[in-house]
Amino acid sequence: MQTELQVLLVVQADDVVIHGLEERLVALEPRIRELDIKKERVSEAIERTSAAVETEEKKQAYIRDKIVEHRELIDRNEAAMDLVKTLKQATAAAIQIEQAKLIVSSEESDLLAVNRRLDECRGALANQTTELASLEAAQLAARAEVAVEKAEIDVEIVDARSKRAASAKDVPAALLSRYDRIRGRKRVEAVYAMRGMSCGNCDTSIPMQRRHLMAQSETIDLCEGCGVLMYYVPG
Ligand SMILES: [Zn+2]
Repeated sequence: MQTELQVLLVVQADDVVIHGLEERLVALEPRIRELDIKKERVSEAIERTSAAVETEEKKQAYIRDKIVEHRELIDRNEAAMDLVKTLKQATAAAIQIEQAKLIVSSEESDLLAVNRRLDECRGALANQTTELASLEAAQLAARAEVAVEKAEIDVEIVDARSKRAASAKDVPAALLSRYDRIRGRKRVEAVYAMRGMSCGNCDTSIPMQRRHLMAQSETIDLCEGCGVLMYYVPG
């Protein structure tokens, strides 16, 4: 025949097992969330880089058009040179050609700079796309892993809960509800062995007389310091 204390400690051991399993379930979530956050960050970077590529492509097209336009202007001025009649007209046309050539050469250096930036952006975009793909693969693997672990834990929790329900039947109802109430205040454990003359949880010392009483009758008593149940351990 087990004492009240013994059966209560069995229930508590069962509860500690359930608590551990629940903690493991909770710990599974951040793994997926961390990957979600990383993926989001890379997706945002891809969006920014894509926008930059688009902007540089527009600039590139614009400068290319301008270069064509200004080269045509040079061609037209050079053709007009053949038709000029006076030195004054020739000088004016030559100046126009010279100015247009300067503009074209500055546009060409702008185009080089745009091309360089485009290369950089496209390189970065390629890297980011690769990173996203590998994160997605990692996430798929992690999700599968977590699903397997969760399924295992779920099975263990069902077992642990039915074991607990069976153990709880051995504990007197009043004591069990007292225990449940104390444990409900976010405690993993509600019953503590005394440490010498003190509560095993908060170290409040228990008066000698009360301790003797507890030792003799194997009673489970409430700690006035922290509100847990405690019991005396001989020796
Ligand atoms: Zn205490």
